[in-house]
Amino acid sequence: MQPRDLSDHSPYVPGRGVEEVARELGIDRSALIKLSSNENPHGPSPAAVEAIREHADRVHQYPKSAHTDLTERIAEEWNVDTEQVWVSPGADGSIDYLSRAALEPDDAVLVPSPGFAYYAMSARYHHATVSEYTLSAADGFTQDAETVLSAYGGERIVYLTSPHNPSGSTIPLEAVRTIADATAEETLVVVDEAYGEFAAVDSAIPLVRERDDVAVLRTFSKAYGLAGLRIGYSVVPEAWGSAYARVNTPFAANELACRAALAALDDTDHVEKSVETARWAREYMTDELDAETYPSAGNFVLARVGDGSAVAEAAKHGGVIIRDCTSFGLPGCVRISTGTREDTREAVTRLNRVLAEHEPEAEADA
Ligand SMILES: *Cc1c(COP(=O)(O)O)cnc(C)c1O
Repeated sequence: MQPRDLSDHSPYVPGRGVEEVARELGIDRSALIKLSSNENPHGPSPAAVEAIREHADRVHQYPKSAHTDLTERIAEEWNVDTEQVWVSPGADGSIDYLSRAALEPDDAVLVPSPGFAYYAMSARYHHATVSEYTLSAADGFTQDAETVLSAYGGERIVYLTSPHNPSGSTIPLEAVRTIADATAEETLVVVDEAYGEFAAVDSAIPLVRERDDVAVLRTFSKAYGLAGLRIGYSVVPEAWGSAYARVNTPFAANELACRAALAALDDTDHVEKSVETARWAREYMTDELDAETYPSAGNFVLARVGDGSAVAEAAKHGGVIIRDCTSFGLPGCVRISTGTREDTREAVTRLNRVLAEHEPEAEADA
């Protein structure tokens, strides 16, 4: 007895955990700076932690009002109907809900390469096929309508990531509109704004209000520092609203996650501090790291280092955990998340020591 043929499905490769690496190296975790998963270096909002404590003794009940309250709060924030807000376990959960709602077997989705692995994974779980548009390193991973449309062949879902992971590039709202206009009526354009808070560009949610073919993904994992709770959402076209009850996994967004997200939304000081630190740190890394970097609107910087896997491995031994981008299709690059000011400075010092011993070859391709 075996699972079905999963040979088409590539496993998700997460950034390494700090505990995991500390154990492997036989050192104390405090000796390591973890900048591999785009987590919030300031931790969760203290208000969210308080909300978790306060509601801990109610977890014997299924989450009902917590889910309703969070949905209403988000709908109010973005001025959309509550039905248009699909709360989910992480934005990843929303990707699955959109797959369930949109994809028939053998439908296709169009995803960026390099790009976030879960778009393709979710599509394949739902028996769809995957095609790619290429963002090129030589162009600084510029995202425009033409790049996407030249690869478009009538796919049911087109994924855009702004800011883009792992490069940090953004796509202008006008380009999203152009893509949505040029694609078929049955094509849903999904704009993934997992890092939206860190960017200076406008959210695409106003487009969702005015059209029926654009959806937006947002998460509490990054700027809000709640990655461990798994809570995110999508904002979907009005006509899609009633599909939620047919596609969502019952109670998948849990009580404590919903309560924490509600509290975090009101803790503007924490988000503002998180965004400010990320903006400072990405500038600092761009200026001070001894490697070519790409302009980033996220809480991470992509650096071209020659051999990403060797540099990430050496960095680990040098006390900094960073993300080798081989699994993104960029074996010449590493992605470094922004840390606190103190950790970012120290990480750059340590990384520059490593980079001095790993000179990228001039002709190495990202
Ligand atoms: C982190 C991330 C997500 C979603 O993360 P969740 O923790 O599932 O909310 C989605 N898209 C991109 C590009 C990401 O980097």
